[in-house]
Amino acid sequence: MTKKRLGVFKFASCDGCQLSLLSCEDELIELAGKIEIAHFLEASSHVGPGPFDVALIEGSITTAADAKRIRDIRSQSKTLITIGACATAGGIQALRNWADHEEFIASVYAHPEYIETLATSTAIADHVAVDFELRGCPIDRHQLLEILAALIADCHPRTPRHSVCLECKRRGTVCLVVTRGLPCLGPITQAGCGAICPAYDRPCYGCFGPAAQANCPALSQHHLSGETTATQMIHALRNMNAAANVFQIESDRLEGNVG
Ligand code: SF4
Ligand code: SF4
Repeated sequence: MTKKRLGVFKFASCDGCQLSLLSCEDELIELAGKIEIAHFLEASSHVGPGPFDVALIEGSITTAADAKRIRDIRSQSKTLITIGACATAGGIQALRNWADHEEFIASVYAHPEYIETLATSTAIADHVAVDFELRGCPIDRHQLLEILAALIADCHPRTPRHSVCLECKRRGTVCLVVTRGLPCLGPITQAGCGAICPAYDRPCYGCFGPAAQANCPALSQHHLSGETTATQMIHALRNMNAAANVFQIESDRLEGNVG
């Protein structure tokens, strides 16, 4: 079997999703027999040229140079997969989309004149065609291995689209909304984490972004009928997936009502 050529590329991100790939350890040795890691700067200084059978993209687009670089990578890649909240939704850095980015630069850097950046942080799919999105902040390594195995077998990868609530039920976690009225995002968040936060008594933060057919207004209405304020709900939605379409629409709608 011809080895698939894999490229792993980083844009604006914390590297956590690439580390999820590196933390596969034993499985990586097995994968190495079936995949040629042609470009993965986090793992090796060897830089192989394209084309690539599979490109894994971490991070969001925050500079004009990166907007060009992702187009170059797309043109060399047969299958392009975005990994993590930064790449699929703009990441936590998309909070700049609601702010004055020049004010941010001036308050962080001694010489803001050296910084060249866009006013927004946007998902990779806003710039090029994406074949598959792997959600999470960071991604789940088991899901990553599943999609790599699917690609080696020339199958279309799949990940669950249901909400975190189902995972709570599967592991027998008592619901924090029903029993304690906490502002959990689980009902509108895609599964993949194993509902780890509710299992440790913390409401879901929405790391995996919107689930299929997420009804955000209904969840807000439910939480606001309890002790949660609109501002708390906006903060819950404006997290690592703040710019994911339905989360953004709902946080903007709530902000418009705050007055
Ligand atoms: S999605 Fe989260 S873990 Fe992955 S690179 Fe972005 S901030 Fe880091
Ligand atoms: S704790 Fe949150 S994720 Fe778990 S069942 Fe309740 S609402 Fe859903």
